[in-house]
Amino acid sequence: MAAALAASENPQAHVILLERQARVGRKLSATGNGRCNLSNLHALEGGYHGDDPAFAKAAINAFSPKETLDWFRKMGLFTVAEESGRVYPYSDQANSVVDVLRFALNKPNITLITGFEVAKVKKSAQGFTVEGPEQSYTCDKLIVACGGLAGTKLGGSMSGYKLLRGFGHHVTKLRPALVQIKSDWNGAVSLKGVRCNCHAQILRDGAAVAESSGELQWTEYGISGPVIFEISRDVCQGAGQWLCRLDFMPDIGREVLLEELKRRRGTSALAEDLLTGILHNRLGRVLTQTAGIKNQRTVASLKDWELEQVVDAVKCLEVALTETMGMDSAQVTAGGIVTAEFDPQTMQSRLVPCLYACGEVLDVDGDCGGYNLQWAWSSGRVAGYHAAEGNYD
Ligand SMILES: Cc1cc2nc3c(=O)[nH]c(=O)nc-3n(C[C@H](O)[C@H](O)[C@H](O)COP(=O)(O)OP(=O)(O)OC[C@H]3O[C@@H](n4cnc5c(N)ncnc54)[C@H](O)[C@@H]3O)c2cc1C
Repeated sequence: MAAALAASENPQAHVILLERQARVGRKLSATGNGRCNLSNLHALEGGYHGDDPAFAKAAINAFSPKETLDWFRKMGLFTVAEESGRVYPYSDQANSVVDVLRFALNKPNITLITGFEVAKVKKSAQGFTVEGPEQSYTCDKLIVACGGLAGTKLGGSMSGYKLLRGFGHHVTKLRPALVQIKSDWNGAVSLKGVRCNCHAQILRDGAAVAESSGELQWTEYGISGPVIFEISRDVCQGAGQWLCRLDFMPDIGREVLLEELKRRRGTSALAEDLLTGILHNRLGRVLTQTAGIKNQRTVASLKDWELEQVVDAVKCLEVALTETMGMDSAQVTAGGIVTAEFDPQTMQSRLVPCLYACGEVLDVDGDCGGYNLQWAWSSGRVAGYHAAEGNYD
């Protein structure tokens, strides 16, 4: 949609937008838990990954978060930025973003065709022939904006990779990113639904590979929530022992916590309430049990070394990781079409002139917090603008 709108700014260009689903922006309307985190004000500083993480820079510079928000404002969308830099529609509804784009597409030099799945694309003398199940279209410039494999139920598919492979492009290994992680730690089941703040560190064979702070959500199969999405990229990819080390009181030192627990020995509380008032009740109980302390013991009976073990569980819980959830659950695909085969300034293929690609289909994935949609807008706008730059009769 961003590419089509940018291309249509050349009044001589006629744009045909082909969408295989019944309506445009289906995935978009599910983003940000229905709120659509459409940009991040810090995207110019980085936050992108792939074989060449610098590839995204040119497009983000050319069409920055500020320009993106101005563009949306011109289309009628009010937005609001959180302190973290995450930007949401003022209405807090992802559908508002889809709607303003839909309305903007309604212009004389754009033809929107939904329910049309591009099955094949061929290079022809005039340009390209784009074939669907029953009909085909020709064009002199072609932009592949088919997205990635993540979010399969919302339309994620292999389609874009296949179309571009047909032109000789290559695909790197595809992995789910911004995704929940499975754990066989037996405490997870009884914590299902609990949310808590923590510092999380991923370790592979004892060496730290990623860390972040923020909200964690326990699920029946393991761990989820923004802090986990942040560090889920490449987890359990490759051999080794994968662990997540959690500190549930990152801003409180061990000594402070230990002193408070010792103070509680002067009360008549049972061990199951040892961490009451400090952590979520259920989490407190599970951590006390993890430290090897039976619920029905009195706090007064706990030895110093037992309290130390509780502090260990609160400040340094190690949860074994088995694998990430699959592409169905992932928000974005890590990996994609090799970016070295595209010019980052124009998004044009280096292999096939007049062929462009943008968005998630390329080997670019961003951090959690609006970076992926910013990449989609920026790369889409750059592709559309350059595709329509040529001569039109
Ligand atoms: C649940 C979920 C929540 C997310 N939340 C956020 C968020 O809050 N912030 C953020 O920045 N990112 C978020 N993302 C990631 C973000 O949505 C994607 O990275 C982004 O939508 C990619 O844009 P795109 O245009 O490349 O692909 P898409 O948005 O996937 O659009 C590609 C379109 O092409 C169509 N298509 C594919 N193949 C064909 C074909 N052969 N013929 C015709 N049409 C075709 C698809 O149906 C689709 O409509 C989320 C993703 C998911 C799954």
